[in-house]
Amino acid sequence: MSPAIAVPSHYNYVAAFLTLACNLKCSYCINHLSGPAQKKGFLKGEEWIQALNRLELPTDLPITLQGGEPTVHPHFYQIVKGLREDIAIDLLTNLQFNPIEFSKIISPARLKRDSQYASIRATYHPETMAWGSLLEKVIWMKEKGYAITIYGILHPRDQVEILRAQASAQALGVEFKTKEFLGEYEGQIYGSYRFQGAVFNKDISKCLCKTSELLIGVDGNTYRCHHDLYNKFNHQGNLLDKSFAINDSFKPCERFGNCNPCDVKIKNNRHQQWDHTSVEIKQIENYSGI
Ligand code: SF4
Ligand code: SF4
Repeated sequence: MSPAIAVPSHYNYVAAFLTLACNLKCSYCINHLSGPAQKKGFLKGEEWIQALNRLELPTDLPITLQGGEPTVHPHFYQIVKGLREDIAIDLLTNLQFNPIEFSKIISPARLKRDSQYASIRATYHPETMAWGSLLEKVIWMKEKGYAITIYGILHPRDQVEILRAQASAQALGVEFKTKEFLGEYEGQIYGSYRFQGAVFNKDISKCLCKTSELLIGVDGNTYRCHHDLYNKFNHQGNLLDKSFAINDSFKPCERFGNCNPCDVKIKNNRHQQWDHTSVEIKQIENYSGI
């Protein structure tokens, strides 16, 4: 049996990207930044279970199953059933699965924990989803006892529809939160970022960077940030490697300017306190490119 892996107590997020494949195709999807190779070659169910069960997590820190769409992993249910009972599980999903089948295999109790936000976070993408059917599923799951919230991204193109859907959900007692759009649209950059020049910048700089997240790619490799994960760049070791340990230190990076918005945006931490950023960056030096 492989030794346990201690997750540092200040870590705020653990993400298992079960697969980057998805059953929808949203035009603003951040996963389009990854090549087609990433949509294949994921760990099998047994391997995910073995890898994730090694983690010794700080109190209240769940493992978030995400993707892509995590439920399209062919062994999704096996993975959830195989994780240690003391590991809390969160799920980021587009909710395209059959909730009746889901409820027969995963009980509301398995996904419930003492937290200020719901363990199932379903995102509404107006471009690719039918609102009525999403809302119906969420109400059904809520009535079954799942802790579930809908999220909508305030993309400038979808803003009116997101706010309309939010009002209609709230009128029925369903929680619907909005998120900033992070990206470029019609020549404008959207999002609130901690470090000036970190995203969508033609000028690339060197820096030192340290993360507060454990990001586990589809093949069990771990990464410093979403930029590295989506580009399969500079992995920090694989969870299936017996000697793997988390190196919680500042590391040199030559990609500042190409950071992924998710890593440098200002957001809530897991205790819902505002002003958190996933990475700390220091000693930014001008650099003429990669
Ligand atoms: S549902 Fe999510 S993962 Fe799937 S295409 Fe849309 S944004 Fe991407
Ligand atoms: S500086 Fe940006 S690209 Fe480099 S490791 Fe940090 S978040 Fe990733």
